[in-house]
Amino acid sequence: MMQQYLRLKAQHPEILMFYRMGDFYELFYDDAEKGSRLLDLTLTTRGQSAGAPIRMAGVPVHAVEQYLAKLVKLGESVAICEQVGDVATAKGPVDREVTRIVTPGTLTDPALLDEKTDNVLLSIHPVKAAVGLAWLSLASGELRVAEVAPQALDSELRRIAPAEILAADGLELPGYTVTRLPAWQFEYAAGKKRLLEQLGAATLAGFGVEDLEPAIAACGALLDYAKKTQGRALAHVVAVRAERAGEYLRMDAATRRNLEITETLRGEPEPTLFSLLDECATGMGSRLLRHWLHHPLRDQTVLVSRHEAVEALGALHQSIKAILRRFADVERIASRIALKNARPRDLSGLRESLGLLADLGVLIPGSVSLLNDLIKDLKTPEEIQKLLVKAIAPEPSAMLRDGGVIAGGHCAELDELRGLQTNAGAFLISLEKKEKDRTGIPNLKVAYNHVHGYYIEVTNAQAQKVPEDYRRRQTLKNAERYVTPELKAFEDKALSARDRALALEKSLYEALLEGLKPHLRTLQRIASALAQLDVLSCFSSISIKRNYCRPVFTNEISMEIAAGRHPVVEALVDPFIANDCRLSPARQLLLITGPNMGGKSTYMRQVALIALLAHTGCYVPAQSARIGPIDQIYTRGGAADDLAGGRSTFMVEMTEAANILHNATASSLVLMDEIGRGTSTFDGLALAWAIGKYLLERNKALTLFATHYFELTRLALEYKTAANIHLDAVEHKDSIVFLHAVEEGPADRSYGLQVAAL
Ligand code: ADP
Repeated sequence: MMQQYLRLKAQHPEILMFYRMGDFYELFYDDAEKGSRLLDLTLTTRGQSAGAPIRMAGVPVHAVEQYLAKLVKLGESVAICEQVGDVATAKGPVDREVTRIVTPGTLTDPALLDEKTDNVLLSIHPVKAAVGLAWLSLASGELRVAEVAPQALDSELRRIAPAEILAADGLELPGYTVTRLPAWQFEYAAGKKRLLEQLGAATLAGFGVEDLEPAIAACGALLDYAKKTQGRALAHVVAVRAERAGEYLRMDAATRRNLEITETLRGEPEPTLFSLLDECATGMGSRLLRHWLHHPLRDQTVLVSRHEAVEALGALHQSIKAILRRFADVERIASRIALKNARPRDLSGLRESLGLLADLGVLIPGSVSLLNDLIKDLKTPEEIQKLLVKAIAPEPSAMLRDGGVIAGGHCAELDELRGLQTNAGAFLISLEKKEKDRTGIPNLKVAYNHVHGYYIEVTNAQAQKVPEDYRRRQTLKNAERYVTPELKAFEDKALSARDRALALEKSLYEALLEGLKPHLRTLQRIASALAQLDVLSCFSSISIKRNYCRPVFTNEISMEIAAGRHPVVEALVDPFIANDCRLSPARQLLLITGPNMGGKSTYMRQVALIALLAHTGCYVPAQSARIGPIDQIYTRGGAADDLAGGRSTFMVEMTEAANILHNATASSLVLMDEIGRGTSTFDGLALAWAIGKYLLERNKALTLFATHYFELTRLALEYKTAANIHLDAVEHKDSIVFLHAVEEGPADRSYGLQVAAL
């Protein structure tokens, strides 16, 4: 057995191996030591190999999921080694095989996945001037590729947020779980071949990805790795999509962090924009919402169609949500069907969900083009539905091995085998009666347990009445258990019927999964339509509940917000003071002064968040908002050391500022929060002045520039396109009261001492 272990382990030297032995998965040698440390298992030794005791640690099979969950969270991968041979007939150790590899980026098991987050595996292939990226959510089958400039890699990784990265040696990616692959796996020609094979296509032109060579190279390594972990083909990955610069409103890594979109600055999940908005009824909706918030679109036509849908769903969102809440995670079930690890209750859940589609369809107004598209995708797929109704029992058991999964009437042979078992009850009752009469033992019992099989139980007091033909099966304290030739014959028949029924159910179930495969595309379309409907209804309900307005897009570069609010802060403080904001090429940079705690950061961020929300298709927290085309949002603010990256606060600040000055355009929105603090006063002032000037003259970006340097307010005297605004406070007795209202003109004092006293 240890020889077999060592042979299998040699194929997976880098990762932990869970080696199935009966009811346990065992870890051996160094794996055992590491496993016991990470999982808090007892480390023992057993037997000897090459003269040394074998270290081992184990986890029970029934609890394996929780251990795996812990390990993948720590960034570990695990090869699962199962017994594949027949234990009963094996001579010597039963055959074992690595049947799947659990890695942080390739999870599909519902027990290991977070319902509200996509789990992404990403592959990186840098060439000279570009970095090819390919990424896959195995739980949905979505495959994407992109090519980015090396300096944009960091922000792209932030956006995609992979759980695991595949890369060749040499590429440093601190902070990520990286799996190293040999460089030859990232070869372009092989990658292209592999991708074409996966898509079942003759050319990549139809997918519009032909030109992305480094990304296609990355794709090859990605698909091979993903397939290897699942131990089977990825039937649900049927398309690839290129993400091109220009499609999305760009935000760099610092901006995503600063705006606290899905994570607060302290790294917590709430309160964030996502936690505020996420009233989705399904995991599919929550995951899409998270995606939309990180991928604001620039195409105003698509955005307007989302806004129309949000409006049309206004009166309906509650009834729609009530139905959506009853849906299973169709997206993930479809993937598990493709990977052949769908459980019986996945299929019954899918069946109930498909049954709900009709209810949903009649509710959705078809007057709006986007919703009309969704209605088409949400048609009940009759064929799939029929298949599931016919094949899966109304309430199947959780595990296939327990039986009772396939519906009666689906297969005559199965019905017959099951008949033999159900008739067992009647037979046993009549046998019991017959034996009581024959032996004159009134309390004789015929029963079954799964260790000893069928037996006749007789208490010790009646032992002398036991007839000749009874064979002893088991001795208890107060009773003996026997079999008779008749009972034994029955047992053989019943047990073999049971085994045969289970085996038959297993093969019928596999055939059903196979039969569902041609319909994966349909299921994916349904899932995607459900997710969109869920997010759009969520936007509707939020807009009504929180009094948001529908933003209007214009073609001129500008932002005009009347009575805007910060979506997250307004939910936490009462009353929240709403503020206007006007930005245009003629009023391009606003210098914001006012005391600490006056509300400068809140004001700047709310402008950015309103722009972001408008570009996801959501309504916005304002009385009205007119927004012109925006290509990027930058925020520079909030102190953040990057000690791990070897950069001081000041260095981080200057690096981020340089990035903005290099890349912002006239249609970018730039927020600068107190730039130039981490150095001497005059250095800082000089830097802030120069940066403001550069933004005004060269970038011409729409800019909000908060500062404590009063000297900077003179920029507005030198540039017609700069203006001063301020937030005010008043002294009241010994204390200070912040008004949080934005006024024109510079602040007249900074109240630094009063705030410090507070
Ligand atoms: P600054 O950047 O000027 O130091 P902040 O924007 O951090 O100030 O605001 C400080 C606090 O004031 C916020 O945490 C919030 O509680 C409150 N605040 C800010 N803006 C408003 C507003 N418009 N209405 C009500 N309270 C506000």
